Amino acid sequence: MNRKIKNRIVILGAAIIFVLLALGAFTYFKNKQTKSIIHEEVNSKKISTGEIIAEKNSDPTPSQDNQNEKEHTPKTTDPQNDINIEKSPTSIPDDQKWALILVNSTHPLTEELAIKTVKIGDISVDTRIAPYVNQLIAAAKEEGIGLGVISGYRTISRQKELYDEKCNYWKKQGLSDEQAKEKACHYVAIPGQSEHNSGLAIDFSSTSNPSANLTETFESTKEGKFVKEHAPKFGFILRYPKGKEDITKVVYEPWHFRFVGPLAIKIIDSGLVFDEYWEKNLSLCFK
Ligand SMILES: [Zn+2]
Repeated sequence: MNRKIKNRIVILGAAIIFVLLALGAFTYFKNKQTKSIIHEEVNSKKISTGEIIAEKNSDPTPSQDNQNEKEHTPKTTDPQNDINIEKSPTSIPDDQKWALILVNSTHPLTEELAIKTVKIGDISVDTRIAPYVNQLIAAAKEEGIGLGVISGYRTISRQKELYDEKCNYWKKQGLSDEQAKEKACHYVAIPGQSEHNSGLAIDFSSTSNPSANLTETFESTKEGKFVKEHAPKFGFILRYPKGKEDITKVVYEPWHFRFVGPLAIKIIDSGLVFDEYWEKNLSLCFK
């Protein structure tokens, strides 16, 4: 083999080594770039997943669109009060049914319930709902609004006293027994038919305008406006809305709120009053 051929072989070898090195380098950088894209994709997926988790976590409690609402999101202070019901329950655990019972003229309570109470001001309130009432009052206070409680739990026997007093008043006005009863039930619920007998109802009051309490004017007070807007986030619904009297059989009461727990916002959003919502979605759970 002469010198010339030897040189050619060396050059060819060097060229092959160069090409192999160049291919190796190209493959290395290409892989690195691909990894980087995959990494970015994984990261972006992580972000999306995080958002979904955050959305899921916010489901049981009301929306947290702004800081105000965040501040007003109720915190459970007592595990016994921690109701965890699915959005559209097909069955409700027995220990969570208490917050969703229907009490009205066709579903009266037939006996006294064993309700434990605690005082809010000088009003007796069911211990199961008292933490939520207190949080709602505290949320109002943060905005300088003096929301108060004017009525809470009432026994059936106390309801009977109030009802009898009202009947007697109308009898003294010259009405017959039947007429007096008919008239009285427009003002005081028949014993067992008042939600106050269940411990789940609260009549809220205005400290800025006490003369509006238990009247339709309450809706125009700052307390009335606050409670209407924020009560659902604390598990309460306006029980006897205006325009639904033919279904509720009770006149519009802007002060009377009923505790239903986490379903409150869903019930409000349904546009149905509790009587309708209960018959449609919950009645089967109580059979
Ligand atoms: Zn009431």
